[in-house]
Amino acid sequence: MLEKIDGIILKTQDFRETHKIVTIFGKHIGKFTAVARGAKKPKSRMAAITQPFIYGTFLVYLRSGLGTIQQGEIIESFRPIREDIYKTAYVAYLSELTYKILEEKKPQDLLLNELYQTMHWIAEKEEVDIPMIMYELKMYEVGGFSPVLNMCVRCLSKQFPFAFSINEGGLLCQSCRHIDDNALSLSDTLVKLFHLFQHVSLDRIGNISVKHENKLLFRRILDAYYDHYGGYYLKSRRFLKQLKDLQG
Ligand SMILES: [Zn+2]
Repeated sequence: MLEKIDGIILKTQDFRETHKIVTIFGKHIGKFTAVARGAKKPKSRMAAITQPFIYGTFLVYLRSGLGTIQQGEIIESFRPIREDIYKTAYVAYLSELTYKILEEKKPQDLLLNELYQTMHWIAEKEEVDIPMIMYELKMYEVGGFSPVLNMCVRCLSKQFPFAFSINEGGLLCQSCRHIDDNALSLSDTLVKLFHLFQHVSLDRIGNISVKHENKLLFRRILDAYYDHYGGYYLKSRRFLKQLKDLQG
């Protein structure tokens, strides 16, 4: 079946002498994998359209196993991402996270839109911490390990204030926080922001001003949370960390 699919390239691998295997996050189809014949030849048209991070329209011959990409057209190449090592590292991480968590051929159009918006943001702006966190939280939800951020994870109370517990997987109210000595107190504002990041789409947010120390706090919580629940080793995540450490 020949289909025209819009999507973002999540991963490419060399295949035999001259081909590539390309994994695309496609509209109405979700994650799928197809062979791009001749894509390893540097000057081929196929090589140009099968680079990581490309958003394009692909004509794909779909089968139950590996499909074949017949043609493609770039809608957006996200050049600013390609030309900056930090931006590349951020998007490589988002792509790998998405690649690992998505199930094969299960449509996730809302998430695809979030990825597209987030890549846009990263391409255009310098401040990317919060959009990254927003996308990661949505990805965790798809992966089935989302933290509970709108009520106490133990007694379901919605009464502020809350603390965040990695072990319990979300918020703990005042009467429940004793079950985790390591629960981290969060101001009401931060709890509300955290919840907002989880369920609001990035395109509804114009500008985000969050204090540097609070960004670091969110980052720390998310990293610890992923270490606890994420389950997938991500090479790109390690690289991003090393890069950030260098930056200081
Ligand atoms: Zn409680």
